[in-house]
Amino acid sequence: MCFVKNDVVIPLLTLYIKVYSFTNNKEGISMKLNRFQEISVFVLLSLFLIPVLTSFQKIDWQTIEDRTVELFLEYLAIDTCNPPGDVAAAAEFFRAIFEKEGVPVQLIWTNKNTGRVNVLARLKGSGKKRPLMLLNHMDTVPVDRSGWSVDPFAALRKDGYIYGRGALDMKNFGIVQFMTMLLLKKNNVALDRDVIFLAVADEETTGTLGSARIVRNKWGEIDAEYVMDEGGFGTQDFFTKDKRLIFSVGVAEKKVLWLRLSTSGPSGHGSMPLKENANFIMVQALSRVASHVTPIHITPPVAEMIKRLGKLADTPYNNALQRNTISLTVTNGFVGDPPKSNVIPGKAEAVLDCRLLPDQDPNEFVSKLKRIIDDPRVKFNYIERPIESIVSPYDTELFRIIEEETRAMFPDSITVPHLVIYGTDSRFFRRKGANCYGFFPGPVTMEEYKTIHGNDERIREKSLRTAVRIYYNVVKSFCEKK
Ligand SMILES: [Zn+2]
Repeated sequence: MCFVKNDVVIPLLTLYIKVYSFTNNKEGISMKLNRFQEISVFVLLSLFLIPVLTSFQKIDWQTIEDRTVELFLEYLAIDTCNPPGDVAAAAEFFRAIFEKEGVPVQLIWTNKNTGRVNVLARLKGSGKKRPLMLLNHMDTVPVDRSGWSVDPFAALRKDGYIYGRGALDMKNFGIVQFMTMLLLKKNNVALDRDVIFLAVADEETTGTLGSARIVRNKWGEIDAEYVMDEGGFGTQDFFTKDKRLIFSVGVAEKKVLWLRLSTSGPSGHGSMPLKENANFIMVQALSRVASHVTPIHITPPVAEMIKRLGKLADTPYNNALQRNTISLTVTNGFVGDPPKSNVIPGKAEAVLDCRLLPDQDPNEFVSKLKRIIDDPRVKFNYIERPIESIVSPYDTELFRIIEEETRAMFPDSITVPHLVIYGTDSRFFRRKGANCYGFFPGPVTMEEYKTIHGNDERIREKSLRTAVRIYYNVVKSFCEKK
């Protein structure tokens, strides 16, 4: 990779040599002084020219963008579906390049048999300030190949897009963070704080063998003041009806509450209906849940969004930002495989995926749900209980730099704090006191966003190219020696 333009360096070096030769050949100065003068001029010119040369370094963005795409294609082609969740090849991809480029890196295994491994790399700063950590997960959700129009692991470039599982969640972040580390190293950027790169396993299940384990065993070593993670994009059709470009930066996330409802009753032959049919009891309960509308409740990050953007458009996404939500995701009430049409099952189950706003009490929420269902025959069990949801402050230097650097590239854009409607690994790090921002500085449309965890997941190549520039500028501006 070539990062410094020769058209700046060569003329400056020529000037340096000319001034040095001229001073050295000057007549009328005694030989005794010449030696002293020679050394003085050399030292002075060096002191002057080294900062000049450094400050005139121009980054060859075309080359860097091309390299970003090249690495992204290679990374995207590595199958890291979870389950099974083996990310060893992806970790090795990062490790080999970091090592080649001279960035200190370690692999942290959390389960050798299942390929659970995490990558931790670190660029040292002066230690004046606490570290910034760039966090990404290497695993992805699985694919249903029958729904894809292309091979999900071919990393195909087509019509300005790059297709592949993980293209938006979140191998795009991973590569942009990776390039940022390589560029800081290549450009010898002096840092006031360490910049840490952490690529984890296991985010798409529970985070147990990824971020949770790292926080437990390595937090003392990491001790980051700030974390940059997933959770926000550049968007034009998420929040408002006009087509303004809005960069959303995740500062908090909704709480995940998964509930299993179960009912039971006598089983029997379908020809003789029974009043206490477990399925009927369940259907009545679910119908009460379906007709319940949770109230609008504006939390501080969303209030700030509305202040900056005006009224939010009436969309499912914005609906989820402003209230607790309940999705019915699983129903199961049958006997046999395939299910028997003529057997009344003795039990029925359903799973509710509830997402609560950060300041909501899950116990109160469940009590209310029980009152709505109002049937003691329906049993409640927790599959996933939420942990405390912390809101990171957004009146910080890093947030301001994100605003400045996005505006430098897109002068008409607006940056807003954002409530992430799904769970991310940031929750583990916010609990350790780190300020976490979920941010990908490339534009993504709602149509593209919907491919996350879905079919034909893809990113616009231009978005990836834009993102690497802004991301590097943000991290450099925030961490470089002042
Ligand atoms: Zn993700």
